[in-house]
Amino acid sequence: SGKSTVGFALAARLNYLFFDTGAMYRVVTWAGLDAGVDLHDPAAIGLLAETLDIAILPAGEAQDDRHLTVLVDGQDVTWAIRSPLVDQNVSIVAAMPRVRAALSQHQRQIGVRYARGHAGMAGIVMVGRDIGTVVLPDAPLKIYLDAPIVERAHRRFLELERRGKQTPFAQVLADMRERDRIDSQRAIAPLRPADDAQIISTAGLSVQEIVARIVALAEMDTQPATPYPL
Ligand code: C5P
Repeated sequence: SGKSTVGFALAARLNYLFFDTGAMYRVVTWAGLDAGVDLHDPAAIGLLAETLDIAILPAGEAQDDRHLTVLVDGQDVTWAIRSPLVDQNVSIVAAMPRVRAALSQHQRQIGVRYARGHAGMAGIVMVGRDIGTVVLPDAPLKIYLDAPIVERAHRRFLELERRGKQTPFAQVLADMRERDRIDSQRAIAPLRPADDAQIISTAGLSVQEIVARIVALAEMDTQPATPYPL
């Protein structure tokens, strides 16, 4: 929670690529809604996940508060994929095995490509609900951000308000609760911290404080082992 803002700031600080995997699940959901496909039809949605041309790119010239630009078949859907309707439906799509297989494979390739630096970036911050457990189980540093649901819903409510999408707080909270429930209970890749994840409780911490903690953990992680005492 807060993973997008924290991940983005962390990546900027380390000169790493920021890659938000949630955007991919959102794109498939948005495309299904846009094309009038039945979101409960695993074959139709699976095919979409396998065939859509999804590009997650740096924000570029855009003058809004985006962290990334998201294109599907060339169309800019950066904000369209953050609508309440996508929020309400994304967990259904994300529970489908074919969807997860297609998107995880793509994410793993990107993770491996950037792991030791690529295209001017020194590494990668990959953000999502199953990165430490499924997509990149060998990642050298795994962070699980935890925050009270009311705080997360409040952040989301403010974000929607900033973009002129007034939605009652009670609805934002209810949608988030339902999404968490489906994401945590699904059969494949349920939302949970990896056994070797560092859990950071973000309540009351600023983004800068969280980033500083993670940078400290990353530095600890890359310290050479203590030399054997002579
Ligand atoms: O991170 P974000 O809220 O944008 O993710 C939207 C949804 O996409 C999540 O609620 C979850 O259903 C799905 N997701 C997932 N695995 C990921 C990232 C997102 O299942 N790695």
